[in-house]
Amino acid sequence: MTITIADRMSAVQASPTMALNAKAKTMAQAGQDIINLTVGEPDFDTPDPIKKAAIQAIQDGATKYTAPDGILPLKYAIIKKLKEDHGLNYEPQEIIASCGAKHSLYNIAMAVLNPGDEAVIPCPYWVSYPAMVALAGGQSVMIETDYDNSFKITPSKLEAAMTDKTRLVFLNSPSNPTGMVYSREELQKLAKVLSAYPKAIIICDDIYEYLTFGEHEFTHLLTVAPELKDRTVIVNGVSKSYAMTGWRLGYAAGPKELILAMKKLQSHSTSNPCSITQHAAIEAMTLGKAGIADMLTTFEERLSSAHEALTSIPGVRALPAQGAFYLFPEVHGLIEQLGVADDIALCELILEKAQVALVPGTAFGSPGHCRISCAVDKKRVNEALSRIRALL
Ligand code: PMP
Ligand code: GLU
Repeated sequence: MTITIADRMSAVQASPTMALNAKAKTMAQAGQDIINLTVGEPDFDTPDPIKKAAIQAIQDGATKYTAPDGILPLKYAIIKKLKEDHGLNYEPQEIIASCGAKHSLYNIAMAVLNPGDEAVIPCPYWVSYPAMVALAGGQSVMIETDYDNSFKITPSKLEAAMTDKTRLVFLNSPSNPTGMVYSREELQKLAKVLSAYPKAIIICDDIYEYLTFGEHEFTHLLTVAPELKDRTVIVNGVSKSYAMTGWRLGYAAGPKELILAMKKLQSHSTSNPCSITQHAAIEAMTLGKAGIADMLTTFEERLSSAHEALTSIPGVRALPAQGAFYLFPEVHGLIEQLGVADDIALCELILEKAQVALVPGTAFGSPGHCRISCAVDKKRVNEALSRIRALL
């Protein structure tokens, strides 16, 4: 019997970050000394008070279906967070909890895009943005950036990408995979362009909001351009800030019509995010940024020592991370010296010969680069970089 799969599935590949992580884990399980720098997942344990809140929730019987868009106490915790961090006001019907930020982003694409509608995506991008747009039948319009412009879009590039058909604009600061953070001034200029396109909904993917380093501070687009609030949707979650990737809790805050459409979608697909996780997430938000100070310091130390080691490898150019926990080196010189075809072949060679797993830049729309997720301890990250240098 021939199994026929729907046409829409041929528009996308499986997530390369998840696939490479699985491959690295399988190799490690088979006894190889693999240093896995693929996946964007903090290696820290979820803080104890969050675990305790989950155990308590189980004991209290919070083990049943909830409303598809999440329980009210969680919505109030999200509302409080957005008010305290950014002075933004939301009502419960403008908030939806979902099974991860990824789930919220997917539902936004499904709720907003008609076939042929355009979604503007700064490139390099997080792997799932174009896939979500494609699954919803939309067209991705990429804005190219590179090392020389700090991987940041400019107002003129944004203007050139926007058309009458633009329905979505993705913004992600701090960025996965580049680790760059947009400043207040940069956001002000981008907001000016966006204000001329009232039909476009802006997605602020704030998942790395709490992970910024040195003088780089997170600024919210809506604090510099509050006039965009009625067509901006904030996406965030607990995965990265509280080391809770496996718990699956994200959320969106935005116009109530959009949130209602997403709720409808959830009611027919996943139903509510895990009831126990919702209670744990309330505790996470109570901890806030102050509760993760140690994790932040560790990431900052790791990233800066990895940056130093990385940039001492001939043929590699890399910007220091301003936020998130990634380095995104340009590796054209390394590709040339090692005599391989491209970044994909380079990552294969590095995995095979140095037993270090990285994600090729092609996965993020930027060939000639690769992504290093500093999600293992400093010693291991530095050992990984020494092994790569030894290939030369
Ligand atoms: N946005 C970005 C930019 C990410 O890197 C990730 C990675 N997991 C997500 C969204 C989704 O996070 P989650 O679904 O774990 O909340
Ligand atoms: N976002 C993480 C990453 O970029 C996790 C993997 C995924 O969700 O694709 O590695």
